[in-house]
Amino acid sequence: MVDDDGSRVVVVSVDVESDPAMFVAGHSGIEEGLPRLAELFSAHDIPADYFFTLDAAQRVPDFLREQATGGGWFGSHGVKHSPAHYSQQPISWQERTLDDATEGLTALAGARPRLFRAPNFSVSAAMLRSADDLGYEVDSSVLPGRVKRRYRVVPVVDHRRAPRNPYHPDKRDPCKPGSLRLWEVPVTENPTAPGAPIGLGFVNNERPEVVLRAIRDSSGLVITILCHPWEAIDLGKRYPGLPPWLTSTCSPDLRSFGAVLQSLRSEYEIVRLQDVVPRLGRTGGALG
Ligand SMILES: [Zn+2]
Repeated sequence: MVDDDGSRVVVVSVDVESDPAMFVAGHSGIEEGLPRLAELFSAHDIPADYFFTLDAAQRVPDFLREQATGGGWFGSHGVKHSPAHYSQQPISWQERTLDDATEGLTALAGARPRLFRAPNFSVSAAMLRSADDLGYEVDSSVLPGRVKRRYRVVPVVDHRRAPRNPYHPDKRDPCKPGSLRLWEVPVTENPTAPGAPIGLGFVNNERPEVVLRAIRDSSGLVITILCHPWEAIDLGKRYPGLPPWLTSTCSPDLRSFGAVLQSLRSEYEIVRLQDVVPRLGRTGGALG
């Protein structure tokens, strides 16, 4: 169990990155959405984990340093969000990219990143071995249930077999328990949208009751809620050409998210990943 009594905990994480790189080039989310999210968390007294791409961190170095003060753990989300699938690049490229992101973030923050999440959940065994060597404590890139295919055939991300509770991953397979030192804390799959996370876009689009039910129905002892700064702005107004399925999930009005957080606080303990890890160690990883 994560807790001695086996109760589930909630972890709120924010991937601090540019506006959706597959479609546009801009930073409105970082400029407007990120402070809006940080303000909401502070108003509700909610701790959150932030994963930064290096290019985003360079735009908000003070915010990054704030996360690192007092021994706070912060995350690396790579150098930037492209190429979309890190795991499809040569292994030497993956290792260099992790090195570069780690070095760049460390220089900006004055402390090393301890958490890692690959862009688009596209993690590989090579990346996890690198992260382990670089002293990361947690990877949170695996989204059990996720499968993304290229040309509708070849899987580029396939996390269908991954465990839903934290584990030490295998050296050769991120979705299998094994002997790496760092912990894999999987991202929670949304029971109403298989293969997708429980994200701010979902919260923006649904009534709080629907979101809370999805959270209760989800699997795993650590429940992750995943936010992007660009989900906290009027993305459609900023980029009029974007597809409605994307822009309809993005809104500067975070009242619904506030209501969800308020309810979650009364039902679950909301913690940071650095609070989760010592509890995992205590039970030697024997979750269940
Ligand atoms: Zn991302």
